[in-house]
Amino acid sequence: MVRLTSERVDPWLLAEQEKTLEGQIALGTLSRLAPLLVEDSGEAAFVMEFGRDEHGRSVIRSSVKAELRLECQRCLHTMTLPVDASGVLALVRGPMEAEQLPAELDPLLLQENESLELARLVEDELLLSIPVSPRHEAGVCQSHETAHAGEPVAETSQETAPNPFKVLAGLKTGSTDDS
Ligand SMILES: [Zn+2]
Repeated sequence: MVRLTSERVDPWLLAEQEKTLEGQIALGTLSRLAPLLVEDSGEAAFVMEFGRDEHGRSVIRSSVKAELRLECQRCLHTMTLPVDASGVLALVRGPMEAEQLPAELDPLLLQENESLELARLVEDELLLSIPVSPRHEAGVCQSHETAHAGEPVAETSQETAPNPFKVLAGLKTGSTDDS
């Protein structure tokens, strides 16, 4: 396991050698990602498997896992977005080569001897995993809007299992109103 901040590697050589790199990166060191987070503590775990596919292309099979703390765009409270992203990147030397790739392969444009910053790759995966407008799931979100516009399923579940906070609120108002 390697712990890195800005380690650079030669992806072409690693693909030839069929090397696998794995490790952790502190989220706070990722300059494009960190400003989007409510808390930038924590780490992303990654596995990058360099090798060749059945057509002899140099590829990276990547897996990135992290828990991102974001601001819910509906209730503005902190939410945790679990990220478990995996994909296959094909190393290409130019746009022509990129166009010839099948849809399931994402191109990673690099010059023949250009080194690759692993952290950048991990950061790209994380950024792609963040929705345009991150939100809690309905039912978890603390927004009043969602409570009123609840789906039928959520309403029935609320009836069978009353929210303990609502019961507390009822007790409070009851005791003050009776006096
Ligand atoms: Zn929310």
